[in-house]
Amino acid sequence: MCYAIPGKVEAIDDKFVTVNYFGERKKALNELADLAVGDYIYAQGGFVIEKISPLEAEDILATWRELFFELQDLDVRLSRVELEKQGMDQKLGHILDKVTAGKDLSREEYIYLLDLEDNSSKQLFYKTANFLRQRYHGNACCVHGIIEISNYCGSNCAYCGIAETVSGLQRYRMSRQEIIETAVEAVEKYGFKALVLQSGEDKGYTAGELAGIIKEIKVRAAVLLFISFGEMEKQELQELYNAGARGLLMRFETSNPQIYRQIHPGAELKDRLQVIRNAAELGYLIVTGGLIGLPGQTRDDILNDIYLAQELSSEMISFGPCIPHPQTPLAQLPLPPEDNILKVLALCRFIDPEKANIVVTTGLETISPNARRKGLLAGANSVMLNVTPLEYRKLYSIYPNRAHESETIAKQIAEIVSLLKSIGRAPTDLGRV
Ligand code: SAH
Repeated sequence: MCYAIPGKVEAIDDKFVTVNYFGERKKALNELADLAVGDYIYAQGGFVIEKISPLEAEDILATWRELFFELQDLDVRLSRVELEKQGMDQKLGHILDKVTAGKDLSREEYIYLLDLEDNSSKQLFYKTANFLRQRYHGNACCVHGIIEISNYCGSNCAYCGIAETVSGLQRYRMSRQEIIETAVEAVEKYGFKALVLQSGEDKGYTAGELAGIIKEIKVRAAVLLFISFGEMEKQELQELYNAGARGLLMRFETSNPQIYRQIHPGAELKDRLQVIRNAAELGYLIVTGGLIGLPGQTRDDILNDIYLAQELSSEMISFGPCIPHPQTPLAQLPLPPEDNILKVLALCRFIDPEKANIVVTTGLETISPNARRKGLLAGANSVMLNVTPLEYRKLYSIYPNRAHESETIAKQIAEIVSLLKSIGRAPTDLGRV
């Protein structure tokens, strides 16, 4: 759970600590040598990130306390569903009752939900997902940052605007110093506690260079680092883990091997899955998911995608629309409707109400300006802000007109804080805001 309100260590049991946040207790894995019961810490993604002084912690807690409980109340109010069940279709009522009673749904019932067309039924479905999110996750929302360090890519995904064969794109590769400074600034100046470093499949950095960058960031800033550099050998993943990376963001894109082959020339789904499994074995937190709206993708495929994401993902699930870049072979593919993605977010919540962290992606926001709010009210509990330097951000053009591609970090933070407050969520990842 991504609380970055400081918590107090209540108990230490070997590598695990119990942390108390305003009465709620969470477990986190501790890698700090000198942690003691009574210390205040920041934790992120299940890891203790940083110890902070009692004075600083109590100061932050005092400013949060009142607001935290106010936000909690608002969240609980917004996530109530009971009254609206009157007059709804019986089968839907039965399914929603079953899921709120903590029972597993059948495949056929999930498909029924994916097929819903009537607007009030869809709204009730989303609201029920929001209710479950609230029940198991309270009002915490993870706010991670992503730094796109290079748009060089050796792959040719049939939808992607930074694919090797897309010509006319100015390519960039941030230097070691630029990456380190951008990451340290995101943590020190803006308060991020978790960052993703992402690039195309760029052979321009060696694993040793990436490990050096990760090590230096970890020395200079207390942060949970995710890597997203595409497919890597297990020993490279190990090297980056040893350097301090603790998460892997890598979508499998689709669970259907035929579709995968069609849109990733020369690549096989099983190889990509192996990388994700290797990383999980090494102890990485996994963020994975897929694309909705791929050619030939059926609702059975989509349900399989959701099951696969749940099976693979220990930390976070990420699904978004495929927005084909105009200079790619899939340029003519129609965009999926917003509801198709919201349904997937809500189903991810239904399938694993307790554990799933579900992100509202930039892709969804790009096809629908209000999607962040809608996604957070349909079961999602996480967002990612883009902290890539503005001069490079536009060049990471996986699809055109990406949401937030010209907004400063400060503007993105102000927007998310205001949105989260309006729906009763605690932007607990931005402890210094
Ligand atoms: N090289 C890394 C990062 C790739 S870009 C890797 O392979 O994991 C990150 C994600 O952006 C991809 O996994 C894909 O799901 C998504 N993406 C790329 N092009 C896209 C497009 N045109 N529309 C929507 N999502 C896209």
